[in-house]
Amino acid sequence: MVLAFAVSAFVVGGEIIPAGYRPPVKVDGVVFPVARADWLSVINFTDDWHAPRMRLVGKRWVQSGIHEGTDILAEPGTPIRAMTAGEVENLGWLFYSGWRVGIRGDDGSYYFYAHMTEFAPGLSTGDEVSAGETIGFVGNTGYGTKEGHHDEFIYHLHVGIQEPDGRWINPFPLLEDLYREAVETDR
Ligand SMILES: [Zn+2]
Repeated sequence: MVLAFAVSAFVVGGEIIPAGYRPPVKVDGVVFPVARADWLSVINFTDDWHAPRMRLVGKRWVQSGIHEGTDILAEPGTPIRAMTAGEVENLGWLFYSGWRVGIRGDDGSYYFYAHMTEFAPGLSTGDEVSAGETIGFVGNTGYGTKEGHHDEFIYHLHVGIQEPDGRWINPFPLLEDLYREAVETDR
C-alpha cells in the first residue's frame, strides 16, 4: 500500500498560498507583485522606464510610445499579487495591456498590472484587496483588439504606478527594494 500526501496549498495570514510559491513579504505594507517559486524562480527585471516601444505596422517598425512602467519577466501562470491594499478600480481588456487590473491603493496611487493570462477567480471591480493578495496570473496578452489576444511578446507582468496627481512614476527603484527584501527575508 502506498500513502501519498499531497499538499496543494497553505494559509498565511488568511491568504491561501498555492503550494510551490513563497508567501508574500511585506515591507512597510507593500509587496513585490510577482510570487517567488520554491524552485528556481525565473524573475527578471531591469530599469526599462521610458524605453521606446515599437510596433509592427504593415512591414515597418514604428515607435508606438515610451514605456511607462517596469516589465517583470516570469514564468507563465505565476501568481500576481497586489502591491498594496486598495480597491479594484478597473478590470478587463485593453488593446495594449491585454487583461489588466487597476487598483486604487489606500495611499491614493493607482497600481496597474497588465498582460495577465487570467484574473484571480471571482475578482471584480469594487473589490477590496489586501497587500499580497493574488489578483491574477502572469501571461502575455495584449496588442490585439480581440479579447484574449496573446503571443505578441514574452510572458511578463507590466507594472505601472500613477501618483494621485496623475503622474506616472518609475516603479523600478521600489520594485528593486521590495525584491531584495523578499529574497533576503526568505533566505
Ligand atoms: Zn511594460
